[in-house]
Parts: sequence; C-alpha cells; structure tokens
Amino acid sequence: MAEKKEPKCAKCGINILEKICMNPQGKGPDFCPTKNLTGLIDESRSEYDNPAVKEFARLASVQEGECYLERDKKPYVPHCSKTRIQEVCEFGHKIEAQKIGLVFCVGLSREAEMLSNIFSAQGFEVISVICKVGRMLKEEALDIKDHEKIMIGTKEAACNPILQAKILNDAETELNVLLGLCVGHDSLFFKYAEAYTTVLAVKDRVTGHNPLAALYTSNLYHLYLNRPGF
Ligand code: SF4
Repeated sequence: MAEKKEPKCAKCGINILEKICMNPQGKGPDFCPTKNLTGLIDESRSEYDNPAVKEFARLASVQEGECYLERDKKPYVPHCSKTRIQEVCEFGHKIEAQKIGLVFCVGLSREAEMLSNIFSAQGFEVISVICKVGRMLKEEALDIKDHEKIMIGTKEAACNPILQAKILNDAETELNVLLGLCVGHDSLFFKYAEAYTTVLAVKDRVTGHNPLAALYTSNLYHLYLNRPGF
C-alpha cells in the first residue's frame, strides 16, 4: 500500500506564485494536499452548494478583496488599508448581522468596552459576555487543586466558555466576535457556539496580545521556544 503523505503546507517552500494551490500551472511537493487529496477537495467543494454557506463564503471573499487598494494596478503590489476592527464591522454589515455577540476575557474588560462602543457606533446591537460569567468555582466544577489556581488560597472563578456560548446562542446573535479568550477556553467556545465566530484578538499575556511577536523573535530572544520540551 502506498505510504500516506500527510499535508505539510507549512513546509512547502515553493514560491507563492508558483504553488499549485495558487497557479494552475504551478507545482507542489510530494506531500501537497492540492495534488493528493482530490476526494476531499471535491467533498469540500460540494459544501459550497449549500446556498447559505456559499453566500457567507462569497461575502468573506469580497471582504478580503476590499482590504486591499490599487487592485487594478500592474504589476500588483499588496497595499492594505483596513484594520481588523473595520474589517469585522464591514463583514458584519455584509452578512446583514444586526446582533453581534462579543465574548471577552476579564483581563481585557477595558478593551471590550471600547470595542462594544465601536460596534454600537457602527449600528450593531451588542450582546457582550465576560469569561467569568456565572461564577463557576474552579475547585467545584473542574476539580482544580489549590496549587493549580492563579491566586492560590482563594476561591477562584473559572472561565466558562460553554456558558458564554449558550448565552449568545439564546440571544440568537448573528456573528460572534472573540476577544482574548485563553487557549482551550476559546476552543470550547468555538465548539459550543451556534453562530459563526470570528476572532478580533487572541490572548498573549506577555506580548500585549500579539503572539507573533514571540515568533518574530524566536531566532534569538525567544530561541528557547525551539528547544524540545522548552
Ligand atoms: S497546497 Fe501544495 S503547493 Fe500549496 S502550500 Fe500546500 S504543499 Fe505547497
């Protein structure tokens, strides 16, 4: 039996304009999913036959294009113009969302208020839910030991992304926006939320919520990230 070649697009190494996923005359390495996974390509393509999915995807692509200027100039050079906040607002209008669900981390409460104000200014109704909503205690609900808490010796509320999702599901939000949930808590939110969710920002306690900063400095100041097991 032929060895299954798992996709490794991150290791592709082919120039962006010469990749087979970008160019019909392009090429791909032997682990290339565009070359190898024709069954899944067809299967995913058929999902877009659902009119609602197709329209959502179409508008996402339109939004993507509108984030660049001078698209008709040759040779084309990327010229970006829109912040993520603007992009989220414009996309929300494109899908005709009236009600936005904003889920945020208690550590970004100030940012959540600012963001909520911007969404309101852009005409959306905003349902916002903090991570600690419902005050579920870590030791009671999750069997967290005292030494595993942030503030040892206290009764600590756990993040409750399932409740955040259920509240937004109940409110029938039409687009959810995630602001700074923890790793894993965000995963649970994605799993339980019924409306589509987009991410405004992810949490990184060290870099001002810019995890790529550690990546850009991983050749020196964060070199330890490359050490197996740290
Ligand atoms: S799909 Fe193929 S060509 Fe495109 S990045 Fe992945 S491996 Fe490279």
